[in-house]
Amino acid sequence: MIPESFIQEILNRIDVVDVVDQRVKLKKAGANYVACCPFHQEKSPSFTVSPSKQFYHCFGCGAHGSAISFLMEYDGLTFIESVQSIANQLGLAVPNDQSNVKKDKADEFKLEEILKRANQHFKKNLRSSELAINYLKKRGLTGTVAREFQIGYASDDWQGLKKEFENYEEPKLQTAGLVQKNDSGKIYDRFRNRIIFPIINAKDNIIGFGGRVINKEDQPKYYNSPETPLFKKSYEVYGLPQAKKGIREDNNILIVEGYMDVISLYQHGIENAVATLGTATTIYHLKKLIRYSKKITFCFDGDHAGKEAAWKALNTAVEILEDDYEFYFLFLPEGEDPDTFITKNSIQDFKKYIDHATPLTEFIVKRLTEKNDLTSQENKIKFINNFEPIYKKINSNKYKIFLIKRIADLIHFSQREIEKMMRIESAENYSSSQQIKYSPSTRNSLTAKRKYILILVMKPELFNSDDEVFFQSNLIEDELFNKIKKLLEENDSNIKNTASLLHSLVNKVDENILNELQKQMMDYSENIDLLEEFKGIQNSFSHQLNKTQQSQQFAALKNKKLSELSDEEKEFLKNYKK
Ligand SMILES: [Zn+2]
Repeated sequence: MIPESFIQEILNRIDVVDVVDQRVKLKKAGANYVACCPFHQEKSPSFTVSPSKQFYHCFGCGAHGSAISFLMEYDGLTFIESVQSIANQLGLAVPNDQSNVKKDKADEFKLEEILKRANQHFKKNLRSSELAINYLKKRGLTGTVAREFQIGYASDDWQGLKKEFENYEEPKLQTAGLVQKNDSGKIYDRFRNRIIFPIINAKDNIIGFGGRVINKEDQPKYYNSPETPLFKKSYEVYGLPQAKKGIREDNNILIVEGYMDVISLYQHGIENAVATLGTATTIYHLKKLIRYSKKITFCFDGDHAGKEAAWKALNTAVEILEDDYEFYFLFLPEGEDPDTFITKNSIQDFKKYIDHATPLTEFIVKRLTEKNDLTSQENKIKFINNFEPIYKKINSNKYKIFLIKRIADLIHFSQREIEKMMRIESAENYSSSQQIKYSPSTRNSLTAKRKYILILVMKPELFNSDDEVFFQSNLIEDELFNKIKKLLEENDSNIKNTASLLHSLVNKVDENILNELQKQMMDYSENIDLLEEFKGIQNSFSHQLNKTQQSQQFAALKNKKLSELSDEEKEFLKNYKK
């Protein structure tokens, strides 16, 4: 583990502007630097890097973070690799870094190595387990496909992996997600009596495992590796190495829900499917996949839950949509998944569904008119209201113009009228006139408490523990103040700027709140005197607090008899103004 104070230290010392500029050419714009966003397609720059706050924020796609997260996103590094890379640049040695300890020991226990060995172990188990082999046979799986996907078996044994790893207690086995510790400290296998599906990344490294029960009574049915340094489920898909060839040939990627869907389709000749791993599709999945094919087909059960999941996927897909991307939505008959469907039907039947999948634009219209007949004015307005947020996420000019035209025709308005209703620039001159519309004036709509927190995060050196008295209620801001206070007052605290403070708040504060704070901070003008504004807020807080205390005191005293009052209390009542 890298100590938190070291991470704070490198965030205090590295300049995020340098880190970004080495990879994406930045231009000075006022107090900040801007560029066209490297994380989404755009024609005018909405990617902003703040040297004073030491983080970046994209007003187009919402990407944001510190120098560390930039390297993770842009260079595809893990958190630890990013920290190492920045430390190298600063000429610092990472404390407790495995690579600095004994080299050979580190290699022996590299996570990749551990997972590879575990995989061999699971495969060996499968070969000698009649139970598991019969199960797979019953599901119609051939040996060739089982080998292609390196399917294995975790025996019904609490410490089955002890046979493979003499050093069963080695903490790295826990880091790798293979074993876990119970409350009394006993270590046991995470996967037991399950068919094992190794999750292999595009570089052919095993990064985790999925396990499916053999006994119907066992729960949960599917079980994956936990998040580890190698396995992040919002980034990884199952089946990519096996699907590469099929994707190239079909120029289409099928996204399905489970490993068995991928494998079953593959066995029946549909070799371009991948699955997300116990999570809805994220933009990171899509960004990864779109490199292999610009056409992606999402595959869902035709029931209600399937349609809702498809709509969610659509909302993610529109965020990365570009002119030459194609997204389709395929709905199987109700109650069917690709595995059950292809087992009962032929490959031609399934291909028919692929060929008739609903294109993204059509799905939007279908969905929004499903419960809306567009007959009344109100229904048309409701339709536009539902359409607007989706439309505004789209960056592709062609899709925008096409959709506006389609919507206009549908409710018999002109394109310009639709645009006016949504208060947007005409799509035709969209790209040339698109500007960053976040003005510093949004600052005025923030509450004083929120402003206080924002300035404190921007300038942690302004922290004053006496201000605690202002933060005694249960608003988000009060919680934030107290968390910041705790962090800054910790013994080994090394927080000196916004980036290191924000880093330390991650996992302590709800992610959405942190995102909101970062956005509000970028909106905050660099030109105002933060110190003056901060003092002003402090003064008004203490004025308010005073007033509250006085009125409480007044309320307590006003019913007392004159004879019961002390001289001080009499003085107070004499001077008390409502
Ligand atoms: Zn962006």
